[in-house]
Amino acid sequence: MKYELPKLPYNYNALEPYISGELLKIHHDKHHQAYVDGLNKALDKFEEMRANGDYSLIKHWEREIAFNGSGHILHTLYWDNMAPAGTKNGISKELKDQIKKDFKSVDILKAQFIAAAVAVEASGWAILGWSPELDRLVTLQCEKHQNLSVWGVVPILILDVWEHAYYLDYQNKRADYVNAWWNIVNFEEVNSRFESVMKR
Ligand code: FE
Repeated sequence: MKYELPKLPYNYNALEPYISGELLKIHHDKHHQAYVDGLNKALDKFEEMRANGDYSLIKHWEREIAFNGSGHILHTLYWDNMAPAGTKNGISKELKDQIKKDFKSVDILKAQFIAAAVAVEASGWAILGWSPELDRLVTLQCEKHQNLSVWGVVPILILDVWEHAYYLDYQNKRADYVNAWWNIVNFEEVNSRFESVMKR
């Protein structure tokens, strides 16, 4: 089975003025495509290794699958996580109640999430996720696509802070991008992700 680049759920310019059409097109068509290709290539290599019994390069391909597989998953969630400004920005009562329990208020969660995103060292992601084992929401500051995670956490809200996600529009001003991005969060999607993980 080959993985494919998912279609964006909106037009390239739908997130303007917060994310330009030009940036979104490069990010989706080139960067995400590269992770899909990397994932498929790694899976082919595993098939080859199993066929010929030669696992001498397994360390390399395990790294490749962790990086590209995670890159593909996170980007897929990220596209669905956004919507044209002002269209889907209501947080459900269930999610709000959980946020209040774990962070005291939505404003405090927002401040913590934005601080985590701005402070990611080099390339990575800010993630709000649900941990079934810890029975709470947590924020994560993910490096690259796969480091600094907690096992079992399901992403609810995620923000790409690799330079490719903002440099064309914001140059070095990552904090401006992160704050602007809050305007285009698709909270309807976030609400439904939360609802589905709570049912598991
Ligand atoms: Fe990205």
